[in-house]
Amino acid sequence: MHQAQLAHQAIAPAERYRAIGLRQIAADPRFEKLPADVREGVEVLSQVLPFRTNSYVADLVDWDAVPDDPIFQLTFPQREMLAPEAYERVASLLRARAAAPEIRVAADEIRLRMNPHPAGQLTHNVPKLDGRPVEGVQHKYRETVLYFPSQGQTCHAYCTYCFRWPQFVGMADLKFEARASERLQAYLRRHPEVTDVLVTGGDPMIMKTASLRAHLEPLLAPDFAHLRSLRIGTKALAYWPQRFVTDDDADDVLRFFERVVASGRQLAVMAHFSHPRELSTALVREAIRRIRSTGAQIRMQAPLVRRVNDAAETWAEMWRTGVQLGLVPYYMFVERDTGPKNYFEVPLARAYQIFRDAYQNVSGLARTVRGPSMSAHPGKVRVLGVQTVAGQKVFVLDLLQARNHHWVRRPFFAKFSRRATWFSDLRPAFGEDRFFFDGVRDRTPEERELLEMPVTN
Ligand SMILES: *Cc1c(COP(=O)(O)O)cnc(C)c1O
Ligand code: SF4
Repeated sequence: MHQAQLAHQAIAPAERYRAIGLRQIAADPRFEKLPADVREGVEVLSQVLPFRTNSYVADLVDWDAVPDDPIFQLTFPQREMLAPEAYERVASLLRARAAAPEIRVAADEIRLRMNPHPAGQLTHNVPKLDGRPVEGVQHKYRETVLYFPSQGQTCHAYCTYCFRWPQFVGMADLKFEARASERLQAYLRRHPEVTDVLVTGGDPMIMKTASLRAHLEPLLAPDFAHLRSLRIGTKALAYWPQRFVTDDDADDVLRFFERVVASGRQLAVMAHFSHPRELSTALVREAIRRIRSTGAQIRMQAPLVRRVNDAAETWAEMWRTGVQLGLVPYYMFVERDTGPKNYFEVPLARAYQIFRDAYQNVSGLARTVRGPSMSAHPGKVRVLGVQTVAGQKVFVLDLLQARNHHWVRRPFFAKFSRRATWFSDLRPAFGEDRFFFDGVRDRTPEERELLEMPVTN
């Protein structure tokens, strides 16, 4: 229905990007027609969690199917994302027309209880250079450095399930960012083991091309011959494909991609696609065509999220269409333990089932995808399967990435649990008291260079 219609739409004349927040959406006739409790939900929640959508995303919503529509769920916050007492606290303040600072205090308290930084993001993976932390950089896996340019800490729309939400709601001391790429460059000069820089955010494609180039072009210099790939993690193809087609500096960004490719490196766009509908418009297809014409590769990844994409056929269709358009399926993630997780979480057993059923129903070209994967403290933990071994039902797991590369691709076992939704819910199987990597002291990337760490199995 909706999908077929969209695919035949012509590309609309150039439209400038404009964020839609609570005030603008309240005036949209499609929103005004929604039931009062759905509208109140968005109003209350947007005091606590960041809410932003835009005209392109709002047009992707099937408004007759709200609130269940997956694209509505993707950017519009819902009442059930807060515990009932937290919801009522904010709702009653709003009904009483409380002053903004009073609402803010309540909202901040509620947010702080929502585990804003899971998996030791802030403390564990920020590397040091000459004894000082390299701000805006994380280095967890040997080959790949993550870089968070300060101007890229926002997005064209906000996913309701985003684990980076503290960055968007003005909790200043929870933010981490890079003021300039100089420290990154200095760090990379000392780390020849790094082959990939993955620029992330927020969404780096929110930046003007000039800023993006200022951050990244220096990395094309001869000192960085060890860099083989530059990756850009982005949801702009799903949320604002105009960025690559009709925005003022759309052509400039393509020229920059060409320059990266001409330097002999892979430019990989790590595109976040959550639902096949995001691949259906004429605009996104034109954006994909243009990016690929620069020699860049596009890989696709997303978390598995209840109410948005928790069906095997949704993923199978997304991977099939992606492959058809020249994209490479990459990761299916398990939703992290942060924010309104209870609202979105899918048990690991179910996640595995969805992954397997989707994977079984696509061509080999789409089976480049790996998952379901949890970004946990030891690394990216994949659920390989569920099996009964010697009478015990277990999860078979492995690490796709690990803070110690010796841990990668060694199958291990956890007791099966129907309700487990995250790695921390899992316990070793077969009477073991720990997983093989537990208790091995963490190392900094520098130490990792020097030491081959003992592996206990
Ligand atoms: C996923 C991830 C990467 C990239 O890993 P690849 O498997 O190479 O895509 C790098 N750093 C961190 C912290 C990650 O979570
Ligand atoms: S696009 Fe990425 S960073 Fe932005 S809100 Fe969505 S998940 Fe978060």
